[in-house]
Amino acid sequence: MSAIPVTMKDYKVETFPTWCPGCGDFSVLAGVTKALATAGKHPKDVAVVSGIGCSSNLPHFLKAYGVHSLHGRALPVAQGIKLANPDMVVIATGGDGDGYGIGAGHWLHAMRRNLDITYVVMNNEIYGLTTGQTSPTSLVGHKTKSTPFGNIEQPVNPVGVALMAGATFVARGFSGDAKGLATIIQKGIEHKGFSFIDVQSPCVTYNKLNTYDWHRERVYNLQDAGHDVTDFNAAVQRALEWPTKDPAGKEPIGIFYQQTGRPTYGESERAYQVNANPARAQKLGVSAEQRKELLAQLY
Ligand code: SF4
Repeated sequence: MSAIPVTMKDYKVETFPTWCPGCGDFSVLAGVTKALATAGKHPKDVAVVSGIGCSSNLPHFLKAYGVHSLHGRALPVAQGIKLANPDMVVIATGGDGDGYGIGAGHWLHAMRRNLDITYVVMNNEIYGLTTGQTSPTSLVGHKTKSTPFGNIEQPVNPVGVALMAGATFVARGFSGDAKGLATIIQKGIEHKGFSFIDVQSPCVTYNKLNTYDWHRERVYNLQDAGHDVTDFNAAVQRALEWPTKDPAGKEPIGIFYQQTGRPTYGESERAYQVNANPARAQKLGVSAEQRKELLAQLY
């Protein structure tokens, strides 16, 4: 906890979000900001990295270090920042197309490495920025611009994938539950290791199937249901409840799984043991002795 008090106002910027009124991403922005302030994290110690998509505009809308990177590449950039500056709070954000589609390879490997970062995916089951095509999490039968007769592909199960890939904190939030979402994000930030948070964040403009009301009819809170977050097998069973073909299926939200005590990537990385100084603390350039050695090799 920082000695200097931090409030949500410290994260305020003049730029108003470009999202459509009612977009679920507003709740995620509020949740990230509230979580950081409640956890006592100062903007100077925070970096938010995104990919491409409507949700990936998020780093523009809060005051912290930010990188709006390439499509599907938020996690490689976030991992580089964390490795170079281990004291920084690093949050990666993006959407389902960005993270579970083009960035899927990075997603898997970041989770198994257990870097101490938080990844928040605003999952709206559609490509919003490109005006409404099927995404990796669109349900079977969903009619979109790219699937006028209904989607025929099985959706990715993000929570199930995260559990199998070795993420040590796995959760799902819902933009219609702003308070619960902020709490989940705060716990993810405070968790030591890779925190994965899938957020059901409705696209009110292009996804007329997975609306707020549609989710509200299905969600239930895992913690209210007595779920044990240390029980991996129970987490897998809960993860299988969604995505479902059953129109009356349930959608658990909350923390599915949390494993403490597993070393993070940074803790296991030998380079940090050999040289305790992270890259950001090292001097740029070469010393006079190193220059002499290099010149000796050349001539
Ligand atoms: Fe949000 Fe959809 Fe609008 Fe994009 S198109 S800002 S995802 S509501």
